[in-house]
Amino acid sequence: MAVNTASSLISLQEIKLQPSQSLTNFTTWRVGGPAEWIAEPTTIAEIKLLIAWAKQQQVPCHVIGAGSNLLIHDSGLQGLSICMKKFHGSKLNIKNGLVEASGGEPLPTLARRAAKAGLHGLEWAVGIPGTVGGAAVMNAGAQGSCMAEKLESVLVLPLQGKEPFELKKDELGFAYRKSVLQEEQLIVLSARFKLEPGYDQQELTHITNQNLNHRINTQPYDLPSCGSVFRNPEHLKAGQLIEELGLKGYKIGGAEISKTHANFIVNTGNASAKDISQLIATIQKKVKEAHGLSLHTEVKRLGFELKD
Ligand SMILES: Cc1cc2nc3c(=O)[nH]c(=O)nc-3n(C[C@H](O)[C@H](O)[C@H](O)COP(=O)(O)OP(=O)(O)OC[C@H]3O[C@@H](n4cnc5c(N)ncnc54)[C@H](O)[C@@H]3O)c2cc1C
Repeated sequence: MAVNTASSLISLQEIKLQPSQSLTNFTTWRVGGPAEWIAEPTTIAEIKLLIAWAKQQQVPCHVIGAGSNLLIHDSGLQGLSICMKKFHGSKLNIKNGLVEASGGEPLPTLARRAAKAGLHGLEWAVGIPGTVGGAAVMNAGAQGSCMAEKLESVLVLPLQGKEPFELKKDELGFAYRKSVLQEEQLIVLSARFKLEPGYDQQELTHITNQNLNHRINTQPYDLPSCGSVFRNPEHLKAGQLIEELGLKGYKIGGAEISKTHANFIVNTGNASAKDISQLIATIQKKVKEAHGLSLHTEVKRLGFELKD
């Protein structure tokens, strides 16, 4: 089958649209049922074609980055899942600090490249295993910094399949782990950053390595997880609230509240999305009972509409 887009005619075989693929390898929690259809585009033309195909078939379209902040239902996802991980690459200008990175560029790769180029501003990002697109959507952050600080604009493509357009930082509604991109039907194709040029490369690389080592020593990087599950309530730490209730190590099925960091839920080997979902609900209930506080998830759910 082929779809005629404005610029080209590309066959669906050419862009390797796959039916019934398990999504466990597309999420860092290693859970999730099958995608009805999935593709990993490498060019904007392919992305446009995929969107055109989904529109023609009248099926929903889901966007997945590195799946490092996603809980996907055990029964999987209807329609088309577009995984952006193969849409990667970045250009760094060491003179003026302007950086252009594709939506699927791994954030740790970008952080390392920036440090090696003497560009200051992304050293905090090395331990976040997401893509640039996912990090922009989530306004990912660590060590007191976040995407919103150095990001200037994003290039987005509507899932309705029109032309790409730019959104500037002040249009993105950035707040703590929030952006308007979470509510919009848009694919982040690329992001532009303004970093600070002229820094010592070795010093930046050293700080970047230190940041990574600190995280490896304080967070459970040895087991599948999605990082922090809950947003921190104002002036409080979700992990501390959970730890104080003695919940570290508490398990449902294969999902366990990490013994290293209580805001992480780890997959000990055979967890299902249902196990994780139930554990999230249990934590929320216990924190509510103990403190009268509602914990909200930072993690995004896909495929849970009208299901348990
Ligand atoms: C070990 C570990 C540590 C972590 N530490 C941190 C941390 O310190 N700070 C932090 O903020 N997060 C952290 N995270 C969570 C996660 O890495 C970030 O939220 C990351 O930014 C998500 O990026 P992603 O590409 O994996 O997005 P995904 O999880 O794939 O998707 C997240 C959301 O973004 C959307 N999306 C993804 N890509 C695109 C795109 N190109 N266009 C449009 N929408 C898109 C998805 O539809 C979904 O709604 C951690 C996760 C792990 C596993």
